[in-house]
Amino acid sequence: MTQHITTLRQLRDALPLPGARSRPLSLVPTMGALHEGHRSLVRKAREDGAQVLATVFVNPLQFGPGEDFDRYPRTLGSDLAALEEEGVEWAFFPEASEIVPKNPRIRITHPVAELYCGASRPGHFEGVLSIVSTFFHLVGPDRAYFGKKDRQQLFLIEQMVRELLFPLEIRPVETFREPDGLAMSSRNRYLTKEERRIAPELVRLMTEARDIYAPESQLDRLGWMNQLKYRLKERGFRPDYVALVEPRTFLPLDSEDPPESPAILLAAAWLGTTRLIDNIDIPARHV
Ligand code: AMP
Repeated sequence: MTQHITTLRQLRDALPLPGARSRPLSLVPTMGALHEGHRSLVRKAREDGAQVLATVFVNPLQFGPGEDFDRYPRTLGSDLAALEEEGVEWAFFPEASEIVPKNPRIRITHPVAELYCGASRPGHFEGVLSIVSTFFHLVGPDRAYFGKKDRQQLFLIEQMVRELLFPLEIRPVETFREPDGLAMSSRNRYLTKEERRIAPELVRLMTEARDIYAPESQLDRLGWMNQLKYRLKERGFRPDYVALVEPRTFLPLDSEDPPESPAILLAAAWLGTTRLIDNIDIPARHV
């Protein structure tokens, strides 16, 4: 049985202290509207032999003014049923008023938080890092699981844990996709039938671009990214950004990086009122 926890007091009473754990405690933070991608995080945590605490919390701090906080899908009943099915030990779904200050002033940030998704969503990653660090110290997990679907978020959380010496291990989980390739996302339910048909073209075009990636210069890289944007527009997307990122620093590949460097290709694009993101690895080119 999944134990339901809504208050900090219940949380303190429920969780085994670090010295008294028979198995590692794993944290799986989510905003709910759970799908197979979320479930794959929970399954991975269980396969790794842990007891699992999943959070369901739509974090107001990570939404900007005019973003989809109000319409973000809230499906607590079916989320709790999914967590029960997956054998999660604890589901924590607090009220915002208990864990988010009215006028938060502390900011955890990093230069990469301003780039890519951070450039279009100012303050987004600071909001993510605030809530994730809050959950880390409230729960005190041995491990925490995050999806590679949100690659920039994963990078920033890994940096935060490293720099602030959080005593836990981050375990990344591969992106879980629909049979047609579309990365699962709670926001996919915003798509109309027609948009849902087009949506998998995002990763398909990214993969196609990867397969012809062979830059000899920085200018080639730019041309190649512009071509991907052009193809996305042709299919009906409004690209927000396309970026080639150096995996260790998460900075854009620049003219200093040799053409054969490994990279992560990141993209965000709008389809109607839905903003989709995806990323794929571009392995080092062997010439
Ligand atoms: P969210 O509820 O969107 O905040 O996501 C909660 C966690 O699930 C994050 O670590 C996400 O990266 C992860 N996640 C969301 N979608 C997927 C997916 N399709 N595959 C793998 N992980 C995912």
